[in-house]
Amino acid sequence: MAPSTSDAPPCPDCAPSEGPIRHVNGSNGVDSTHQAIPTNVASGGANSAPAPTSNVPSKFLMPFMNRDLNSNVANFKIIESTLREGEQFANAFFDTETKIKIAKALDAFGVDCIELTSPAASEQSRKDCEAICKLGLKAKVITHIRCHMDDARIAVETGVDGVDVVMGTSKFLREYSHGKDMTYITKKAVEVIDFVKSKGIEIRFSTEDSFRSDIVDLLSIYQAVDKVGVHRVGIADTIGIANPRQVYELVKLLRSVVSCDIEVHLHNDTGCAIANAYCALEAGATHIDTSVLGIGERNGITPLGALMARMYTEDREYVMGKYNLKMLRQVEELVADAVQIQIPFNNYVTGYCAFTHKAGIHAKAILANPSTYEVLRPEDFGMTRYVNIGSRLTGWNAVKSRAEQLGLTLSDDQIKDVTQKIKALADVRETQLEDVDNLLSSAHQAANGQKVAA
Ligand SMILES: [Zn+2]
Repeated sequence: MAPSTSDAPPCPDCAPSEGPIRHVNGSNGVDSTHQAIPTNVASGGANSAPAPTSNVPSKFLMPFMNRDLNSNVANFKIIESTLREGEQFANAFFDTETKIKIAKALDAFGVDCIELTSPAASEQSRKDCEAICKLGLKAKVITHIRCHMDDARIAVETGVDGVDVVMGTSKFLREYSHGKDMTYITKKAVEVIDFVKSKGIEIRFSTEDSFRSDIVDLLSIYQAVDKVGVHRVGIADTIGIANPRQVYELVKLLRSVVSCDIEVHLHNDTGCAIANAYCALEAGATHIDTSVLGIGERNGITPLGALMARMYTEDREYVMGKYNLKMLRQVEELVADAVQIQIPFNNYVTGYCAFTHKAGIHAKAILANPSTYEVLRPEDFGMTRYVNIGSRLTGWNAVKSRAEQLGLTLSDDQIKDVTQKIKALADVRETQLEDVDNLLSSAHQAANGQKVAA
């Protein structure tokens, strides 16, 4: 008899005590729905099994964690900036038709605001801005301009619902970019805000490079613009230097001195953009800037899909009720195509291996209850899980599930024997699902007294 192959060698994060495995419907511990979980090898391939059930709770926060009093993790808005920040991505060139397609897709996805490149940037940018304003989207259409009256005059004529103005406040930008002092910046900001408001249009004022700005300067200007009735103030981690704790502290402080909404714009140079967005919301921010796949200047900003994944784990009902998550892949493919990039293998939600399970110990638990090793339900995002059984890490529970899918009756000992053969084969070469199926068929024929091909 073949030795037990129930579990592959455990990896350090595979503690078997992570949760009880739900055994239902019969001796194999796998219910009829879970038997239908598609199995596939790493080469991928479409499958269309029905979505398995899951008892994933709507909130994943550990019970001892209390939300901040000002927390907006269950009440936030997205300012989608693929058509502004994303236009600064190295590969981006969006013609009018592409911009309209992306704007419509983002609108259908359910983002709250769509931010466009400044109409003062070029004649075509102005025309595109006007064209998108005429689409009659549900999302607010806003544009992003310098804190300058010339830009503001052009922006308010395009038909936008709002204007985002930005001004550098760090000593680096004050010294090496615009060369203005804080008195000048404040005066200019108030002038532009008054003008835009007089047109009945929404206005946001943001500092640039906020985390390298003097805190007294920052709070002074935010208070000044709040006093004249700006709709939102913005914090921008323009260079991606901030960490989650700094973001939390700054937003919390700002929340205590202004009454308007707070937007955050977070670059991802050091990998903190998603965590920073979450911490900003926890501290009382109301709006997060995103772009599809995170595209933007340098390596970009908080990705839309990643923010969806993060916030889904906080309040699934809010996220699913507001955003059309099943469109995520379509929106990402549209943008990836437009800027000629591939969706990364490890992308949040839509990366090709985002829902692929390989280790035997994982596969066994996933087959019994997907919640054991999945924090996101793939079906909520229109995705499908894969259990990779053609590897040296495979386990006999997953192999048995595959045999049942193929309608092959084999005893547990026979399944364990096939599992050993799969492992041996996978030790010497890449193994495909077809190899697994052939081994199972051979075993089935042998068990039924038929001649097995050599
Ligand atoms: Zn930016």
